Amino acid sequence: MDSYSESVYNKVVEKDPGQKVFHQAVLEVLETLEPAIQKFPKYKENAILERIVEPERIIQFRVPWLGKDGKIQVNRGYRVQFNSAIGPYKGGLRFHPTVTQGMLKFLGFEQIFKNSLTGLPMGGGKGGSDFDPKGKTDAEVESFCHNFMLELYRHIGQFIDIPAGDIGVGGREIGYLYGAFRKLTNDHGTCVLTGKGPLYGGSLVRPEATGYGTVYFVEEMLKTQKQDMKGKTVCVSGSGNVAQFATEKCIDLGANVIALSDSSGWIHDPDGIDREKLAWIKELKNVRRGRIKEYAEHFNVSYSSDGSPWSLKCDVALPCATQNEVDGAEAKALVDNDVLAVGEGANMPCVPEAIEIFLESKILYGPGKAANAGGVSVSGLEMAQNSMRYFWTREEVDNRLHEIMRNIHASAYKTSEMFGDKGNYVLGANIAGFLKVADAMIEQGYTA
Ligand code: NDP
Repeated sequence: MDSYSESVYNKVVEKDPGQKVFHQAVLEVLETLEPAIQKFPKYKENAILERIVEPERIIQFRVPWLGKDGKIQVNRGYRVQFNSAIGPYKGGLRFHPTVTQGMLKFLGFEQIFKNSLTGLPMGGGKGGSDFDPKGKTDAEVESFCHNFMLELYRHIGQFIDIPAGDIGVGGREIGYLYGAFRKLTNDHGTCVLTGKGPLYGGSLVRPEATGYGTVYFVEEMLKTQKQDMKGKTVCVSGSGNVAQFATEKCIDLGANVIALSDSSGWIHDPDGIDREKLAWIKELKNVRRGRIKEYAEHFNVSYSSDGSPWSLKCDVALPCATQNEVDGAEAKALVDNDVLAVGEGANMPCVPEAIEIFLESKILYGPGKAANAGGVSVSGLEMAQNSMRYFWTREEVDNRLHEIMRNIHASAYKTSEMFGDKGNYVLGANIAGFLKVADAMIEQGYTA
């Protein structure tokens, strides 16, 4: 790294030494931005790197709620409003016991570049809580969501900040959060949350969008090598929202998904997951809120609580669970087994060593900022439909999503070529996403 980028990075570490995943996300971006920073001195002259790594605002708050035994519980809530140069803050809410301010800063930072890549006017933000919805009753989740919104509602709005879902925040939670917002403000807010149910303003294809978009992105990468998804063997991690719909799109395109996981273990179904089995998984995960192990018992296939699906031979790998879930040894195993493409449905699922292995081996590697941008893209389309007081059909939304993913791919690919490393989507996506935000910041003056 050059001395300018290095000094910015060192300050980030110095200021918040405990925020490891945030440091990791910043380092990856700064390293890949170097050719752009060298080519255009205006970014250093305008202190863009120093400004872009510092959130515009962080809100942290107490969330008391009632447990089923009637006892008061307390969790911590956050909203990181990272960058609003190109539009209102936009990004999901994560409810998971591992949530910290540092984790949300990493996710909010990634969101800046991802949202810019979509071509829609959305800034970057992220929020959530260390509340764990797992094992809680609906009433407990409702109590938590209402009390979370009791503070959050002051900080959001259609032209300010529009949260959505993420890990632990699906349709049920968005419904409770939206209901609370409406009661508190006596206002529908036009579009104050995305991922809403279609009965109250949600967009069709929003639940599917991240998973579908990831597969659309992988399809585009494969096209550069005159390949497609048909007949490909695919391993997917996770079995939540992104994993389910990535699997569905693979089935649509004639690919065979042979593995899925959750935080307890993973299943291997060599015959492949068909539509019927996927419907069973959706019921298991979204209604019964059970474990993926039950799939192995029900369909009589293997289950393991050790290792990961990345030890299997596959053509396409789609990490769709969580950050840092693919380590160096697993990346090597995938490459040794001749994987053609890796598409990140999750945010930062591959550790830096794994990314290096993918880039060195010249396989097709689609980083999350580009490959999983389908979710926020359809959130952007949900905002557009709400503003119009109208809705688009499923087909219209899906076509727009597909077009956006093709454009993101083209922009990342073209930018990688322009900066001398054709096919390096990490470099291409980071630089393409950065240039628009950085130029908008310069045009708006140094206080922006
Ligand atoms: P869900 O909560 O619906 O599903 C998460 C899945 O990942 C679950 O199967 C969960 O298992 C599993 N998981 C979580 N932590 C771990 C872990 N430490 N090891 C193994 N598996 C784990 O979340 P989403 O599907 O919405 O999100 C998945 C990823 O995609 C996240 O990185 C998220 O940031 C990213 N993403 C999501 C978008 C969206 O629109 N939803 C948009 C863009 C990115 P378990 O049930 O056991 O916890």
